[in-house]
Formats: sequence, structure tokens, C-alpha cells
Amino acid sequence: MSAATHRLLLASRNAKKLTELRRIVEAAGLTGAEIVGLADVPEFPEAPETGATFAENALAKARDAALATGLPTVAEDSGITVDALNGMPGILSARWSGRHGDDDANLQLLLGQTRDVPDERRGAAYVCAAALITPGAAADPAAVRPDADGDTPGRTVVHGTWRGVLLREPRGTNGFGYDPIFEPEGTGRSAAELSAGEKDAVSHRGQALRALLPHLRALLAAS
Ligand code: IMP
Repeated sequence: MSAATHRLLLASRNAKKLTELRRIVEAAGLTGAEIVGLADVPEFPEAPETGATFAENALAKARDAALATGLPTVAEDSGITVDALNGMPGILSARWSGRHGDDDANLQLLLGQTRDVPDERRGAAYVCAAALITPGAAADPAAVRPDADGDTPGRTVVHGTWRGVLLREPRGTNGFGYDPIFEPEGTGRSAAELSAGEKDAVSHRGQALRALLPHLRALLAAS
């Protein structure tokens, strides 16, 4: 195996998300990179997530971290979009109950809100936007724009979508967030009843990260 030569930052403070991100990148056999998390770099001020889209939030997180650390950075923003709620909680998924990161309160609130929604209208999807940005590209003020989708040199944004239905009761203990009440299409199980490998193979985060891999490989090869 070749020695790790470049540091790549996965900019997330959500420990469970970080585990998934690391797992997916490492399973893809990315060589030539030492993957570090925010706990491995000096602290820097982190702006609140104010973007109107997953892509904007992912890019802003990646840009801030790349500027602060000088490292090429991957960040992602994700959430669940519920058809019967016109796509909400969406970008507000992590703080839907009013308490940021309170997975159980968020899940219980969503269950209550959708209690009377009939089976045929319980469609939902997990969505993930993942951004890769180099410190050089991050220094350009145009790096984060409202129409943040699309690639520019040193900056790539990709998406993954995982459709399913909302269950009526939590099931399973794997994963995190809304996994116990989300049944991905074609599985017959909740996302919290899937193994880590089963989830990564098809999840919104797995899709998005794998779409970033060619860009990561090109970056590592060029630097
Ligand atoms: P973020 O840190 O702002 O991207 O918040 C993402 C939020 O969306 C998490 O706190 C979860 O509530 C939800 N979410 C995103 N991806 C997943 C997943 O894979 N499983 C369960 N919940 C997820």
C-alpha cells in the first residue's frame, strides 16, 4: 500500500456522520490521502448554517474549513425531505424540533406531524449534497454563490438521493437520525435495520461521496 502523502479534511462534527463518511471513502480504496476530521485540526469559528439549499450549506462548510486549515476539504449537508410536508424538514432536519442535533426529539416530532398521513402519501427521501474544495478555490469570493451547483476549478458539488417511505413506529438501532422511521425503497426494513455496508452501498451519502471520488483522485494525483 502506498504511504499517505496528503491530508484530506472531512469537515463534520456529527460523529455518526463522520464515521459513515470515513467508511465510504476508505471502502473506496482512496490511496495517497490521510483522512482527518475536525477533531484533528486546530479549532476555528464555525458559522451557522444559513444556506437555502443543501449545496449552499455543504459548500459554505467546506469553504470555511479549507480556508481555516489550508487543507482540501469535503463537507456535506443532508436531511430528509417528506412529500406530505412539501419537502420539509429538508435543510432543517438536524434542528426540526428546535434543538440542534436532538435526533430523538426530531424523529418524534416528524412522527407526530405525519400520524394521519395515509400509507399512499408517506413518500420521503434522504438527500445529501457533498462539496469538495481546495484552499485556493476557497479563497475566491465567488466560491459560494446562491446558485452554488456546478463545478469550477478546485470546487465540485454533487448530490445523492435515497427514496423510501416514512414508517409509523421506529424500528432498528443502527444508523442515526431518522433512520428508525425511514424504510428505503426495495428493502422492507428501516434504514436502522440495515447493516453499515448495506446502507453505504445505496444511501444518499454513499451515492454523493462515490460521485466525488474521481474528483478526489484527480486532486490527489495533481498535488
Ligand atoms: P446536517 O448536519 O445539517 O447535515 O444535518 C443532517 C440531519 O439530517 C441529521 O441530523 C439527521 O437528522 C438527518 N440525516 C441526514 N442523513 C441522515 C441519515 O443517513 N440517516 C438519518 N438521518 C439523517
